Parts: sequence; C-alpha cells; structure tokens
Amino acid sequence: MDHYVDFALEKTMELLGIHSPTGYTHEAEEYLLREFSALGYEPRRTNKGGILVDLGGRPSEEGGLLLEAHADTLGGMVAEIKGNGRLRIVNVGGLNANNVEAENCYIVTKFNGIYEGTLQLCNASLHVNDDYNGTSRKFPVMEVVVDEPIESADDARKLGIEVGDFVCFDPRSKITASGYIKSRFLDDKLSVGILLSLAKFLKDSGCTPMRNIYAHITVYEEVGHGGSASVPADVTEAISVDMGCVGDGLQCTERKVSICAKDSGGPYSYEVVKKLIAAAKKEHADYAVDIYPHYGSDVEATLSAGYDLRHGLIGPGVYASHGYERSHKDGVLNTLKVLKGYIL
Ligand SMILES: [Zn+2]
Repeated sequence: MDHYVDFALEKTMELLGIHSPTGYTHEAEEYLLREFSALGYEPRRTNKGGILVDLGGRPSEEGGLLLEAHADTLGGMVAEIKGNGRLRIVNVGGLNANNVEAENCYIVTKFNGIYEGTLQLCNASLHVNDDYNGTSRKFPVMEVVVDEPIESADDARKLGIEVGDFVCFDPRSKITASGYIKSRFLDDKLSVGILLSLAKFLKDSGCTPMRNIYAHITVYEEVGHGGSASVPADVTEAISVDMGCVGDGLQCTERKVSICAKDSGGPYSYEVVKKLIAAAKKEHADYAVDIYPHYGSDVEATLSAGYDLRHGLIGPGVYASHGYERSHKDGVLNTLKVLKGYIL
C-alpha cells in the first residue's frame, strides 16, 4: 500500500495549495472534479458544491455505503474596514485567534483580485505596546495589515477590498523526512487525499466492493451542514472520514487510525464501530478507539437532516487540531487499511 500512501500525500499537498475556507470552495471543487475524472470516475457537483462520486460495487441487500470527507477549511472574513484601513475579521468555522496571530494571509476581493497581508495584534510592535503580553488574543483586538500602501478606509476600498471578502491563511504545508505531515488544514484535506487514493486503488486493482460505495466530498462541514444532503438512494450506512483526535486522555497518535466510539453528538452506530474494529484487526491496522470530547462530524449532519442510516467516523490521528496540525504517513496507511478492509 506504500504507493497509495504516497499518492494520498501528493494529492493532499496539492489540495492544501488551494484556498478553500467554507463558502469559498469552488477552486477546490474544480480540482476534485478533475482528479476523480482523471482516475476514471464520473464525479458530479451537487448544487451546494459537494462532489459526489460513485466508486462502484455490486448491489447488495446490505445497501450502499457513503464515505464523507470535507474539503472546506477554517478561514476568516472581513467584518469591518477600520479608519486606518486595517481589517477587522471574524472567523469562518472554528478558527482561533491565538493560532493565526502573525500568520500571512490572502484577502480575496470579489472583483479586484487577491492581496497579501498578515493578521497581527492591534498595535503589534513589542517596543511600543505596553500591554503586548497582557492582551488576550481575540479577533476584535486583531487586525489584518494589508501589504499595500493603505492609510485609510478609502485607500482600502479603492483597491476593491470590502466587508464580506474572504481571508485565507497560509497553510504552511510540509512533509518531513521522518514522514510527518504538517499544515493548518489537514482537517480534512488529508482524508480527501485518502479517499482519492482509495478510489485509485479500486481502479488499479480491479477489485469490486461487495456493496455500492459512494464518496461525498462536502464543502460546508466546518459550519455544520456539509453532509446534510445528497445521500444516494440505496445508502444504509455512512462513514465520516475525518481527522482523528489526538491529545490528553486519548489513545490515538498521529501514526494510528482513530475509530470514534462517541463524540459531542453521542455514540456512533454500535454495529458500524464494531465492524470498523473488525476491519482494522483483519488488515493489521494500528488503530485506537476513542471518545472525542469536543467534536461533531459530517455524518451527524446527515442524520440530523433526517436520513435513516447507520453511522461511523474514522480518520488519521491529527494533533493540534484547528491549529498548526500534524499527522504522519503511518496514520494515512492505517486509515487506508481500515477502509479497504471495510469495503472489500
Ligand atoms: Zn474535519
């Protein structure tokens, strides 16, 4: 499977290179349409921008299986152009001000192109600000300093910058020689890379899954309704492939695949969790079963929308989630193993 791990990482890095905060995902959608098509599939874009792909399989009494991963990420949006021409932003999704201080960013105007900038604490010079260390970092006391000659709100507006423009943060993506992958937005682009790799594996191997398998790459997960629509008619089970939690009190590491037994939305389907563990054992995948203290998944949005199905959640372990995230190629391998074991 090493080749498929490399392919997953390559596709993840390509997708990480495309800005896609929730609500501004069309370039990522187009990339995914191209990639699934290049693998020989016929992806379809849903009205709200998700990418739905039939990965093949044979009709079975068990019903179809839907795999959900999301291509949208955290980001920011211009909320106010201040008198000095700097930009107050609000978060899109659960972006945390502590985690993006001093990060480079891109202001995407609707009609005048893209400008560069940096998110800074207001009055950010340590030699000037008496309370630099005492200020608690929250978006109202931070501002985007645009790298253009701007001294007033008018200057910013003349460049076409307006309230409602998206602010995209530098993902700082990197793969180390030791196999770690680091980026702001491994959640959930790493899992999208994994699903692309699974799709490639199915084509290359000619293996036909025992049931119909579909992938839905959603684009509104970070605001809670990514998976709330577009479930193919014969689907009886849906599994979110999303980052696995790593932290104090949990068993998972970046090198393992995480199987979630329960999160903020309650327990996952007992049957699906048990089958995921069985698949991990069958494929000799290094896995951990955990309970996520603060987490909601796309597949819970699917259930909340009224779909009658059994649900599960797995994904590669990701540390420092919603911050500068880290995972490892072994976590990718173990996730691929469980998915393969589950569908074949
Ligand atoms: Zn996620």
